[in-house]
Amino acid sequence: MNKRPLLILDHDALRFNMSTVVGWCREAGIDVAGVIKATTGMASVALDYERCGAKWIASSRLEQLARAKKAGVKLPLLMIRIPMISELDELVRICEYSLESGQDTLYSLDKAAEKAGVTHNVILMADLGDLREGLIEKTELIDLAKYVEDSLHSLHLAGIGTNLGCVGSVIPTEEKMLMLSDWAEAVEEAVGRPLEVVSGGATSSLMPLFDKVMPPKVNMLRIGAIVYCGPNEDLRSCYGRTEADELRGDVFTLEAEVVEVNTKPTHPIGELGVNAFGEKATYVDRGDRKRAILAIGRADYGDIGDILPQLEGAEVTMASGDHTILDIEDCKEDIKVGDTVRFALKYSAILRLTASENVTIEEKNI
Ligand SMILES: *Cc1c(COP(=O)(O)O)cnc(C)c1O
Repeated sequence: MNKRPLLILDHDALRFNMSTVVGWCREAGIDVAGVIKATTGMASVALDYERCGAKWIASSRLEQLARAKKAGVKLPLLMIRIPMISELDELVRICEYSLESGQDTLYSLDKAAEKAGVTHNVILMADLGDLREGLIEKTELIDLAKYVEDSLHSLHLAGIGTNLGCVGSVIPTEEKMLMLSDWAEAVEEAVGRPLEVVSGGATSSLMPLFDKVMPPKVNMLRIGAIVYCGPNEDLRSCYGRTEADELRGDVFTLEAEVVEVNTKPTHPIGELGVNAFGEKATYVDRGDRKRAILAIGRADYGDIGDILPQLEGAEVTMASGDHTILDIEDCKEDIKVGDTVRFALKYSAILRLTASENVTIEEKNI
C-alpha cells in the first residue's frame, strides 16, 4: 500500500521531551501522569512515558488504556474523562484510577468494583472556575469525599484534582493552586487522614511550577500536549515561555505529496456562496500566484492553522476535506508534482492525524 500521507513520530525527540518534563516536575515534588490521548493512545507512546519516569498512564478513552495494558505497560492506568455509567464494568477491569465528579456514577462504580472483586481508586474533581467537570463548592466536594470514604467500600479515595485552561480557558494561577491545596486540606480534615494525590491539572499547570509558586501539596500533574508539541505548542498558558524552548518541536512531522502545481488567481472567480464546510470564507486578491495542491485535507488534520509548512516562504491558504492549497509563490525551492512537503503540527492536528485511517504512521528510533 502507498504510505503517503506519512506521519513521522521520532521517539528520541518524544522521550527527550518526556524526560525533561518529568524532571521539571520531580524537582517540584510532582509525579507525572502521562496523558496519551493526543496520539489516539499509541501504545509505544505509553511505553516511552513509562521509561521516562511517569507514575501513571492516563487517557480519556478506555480502549486506549486497554491497548497500553495489552502492550505491557505496568504503571497504574488513570481514566481522565468522567466515565460513562455504561462503561464502569470495563473501567474497573482496565484501570486502577479514575477522575470522578458525581454521586450517581460513584455509587455505580462502587458496585462495579465490588462485582469485579477490586478496589478502585478515585480522584474527586474540584471545578475551580474552568466550568468543565467537578464540584464547584468546597462543601460539596467535602460531602462527596465523605460519602466515598464512609459508604463506598470498594472505592478508595486517593485524592482530589482539578482541571483548568480547558473549556473555560482559566489560567492555573498560584491563587487557583492554593485554592486546590486548601480544598485538599479540608477534605483531609473531614476524612481524618492524608490524601495520596492532589492533581493540579494539565500542561497549562506547569506555569506555576515554572514560576516556582506551586504549593507543595500539589503532587501530580497530568501532562500531554507539551511533550508532543514542544515549543511549537501555542497553548495560551505556555505561550512565550522560554522554559518550553528547551523541548524538541520535531516529535511529529507530517509529509504530504504534491499533486498539482499551477499559477492561478488568488480571488475566486464568480458569485461566492459557502465553501465545502458551509463556511462563508473571505478571500484576499493578491493577483496571480503559484500554488501547489497537496493530497491531504481537513478530513485528516482539521484546521489549516494547525499544520505549519516547513518550507520557507510557503503558506497554507485553503483546504477542502482532501485537498490543501499551499501558496508557494515566494518559495526559493522549485516544487514539482510528486514532491513532498513537510509540516510541523499543533495539538489538534496530532490528535486527528493519529486517528486518520488515510495516514500512515512511521515510528523512528522506537
Ligand atoms: C487532556 C487532559 C489532560 C492533559 O492535557 P494536556 O493539555 O494535553 O497536557 C489532563 N487532564 C485531563 C482531565 C484531560 O482531559
